[in-house]
Amino acid sequence: HGDPRIQYISDSIRAIPDFPHKGIMFRDVTTLLLDHKAFKDTIDIFVERYRDQKIDVIVGIEARGFIFGPPIALAIGAKFVPMRKPRKLPGPVIRQEYSLEYGTDCIEMHVGAIEKDERVVLIDDLIATGGTLGAAIKLLDQVGAEIVECGCLIELVDLKGREKLSGKPLYILVEYE
Ligand code: AMP
Repeated sequence: HGDPRIQYISDSIRAIPDFPHKGIMFRDVTTLLLDHKAFKDTIDIFVERYRDQKIDVIVGIEARGFIFGPPIALAIGAKFVPMRKPRKLPGPVIRQEYSLEYGTDCIEMHVGAIEKDERVVLIDDLIATGGTLGAAIKLLDQVGAEIVECGCLIELVDLKGREKLSGKPLYILVEYE
């Protein structure tokens, strides 16, 4: 990266072992939000990257994509579209299922929120297995959106989630094993 802001951001993210299950190292971005410089630098880095790319839409994935997506959307003049867990959105939705370790999950988006050929950046806090972002990409493909990039603060590289993104680019700030 070579960006001096990255180390500061990385240091502001707390690691909590064995949450929510034994063996999981949870990367907690709420400590980043407590530090104005870390939060602002994080948003600024994404804004600098996307501001001149004619982005129409920032899509945020529930729940922490709802924290980082909207300030980026406001700063670059894009609309914000939430992708949510099932049965949260009140209007007509399209949905995409994806598999978990045990069973399946699903994300939904309002019909009409994104039009064909609109240029989209997908934002979430962290990519682990890539199941969530992979499903989000399929949902955007259903409506004919142009996916410019996925942007996350954190990549858990050992889980190889990048390979589930149908070849779409992934931009991250910090990586952990
Ligand atoms: P995945 O679909 O496996 O890529 O999981 C991504 C989602 O799960 C993201 O929205 C993350 O917020 C959350 N997540 C998965 N693993 C972790 C972790 N170790 N620490 C914090 N959040 C995680």
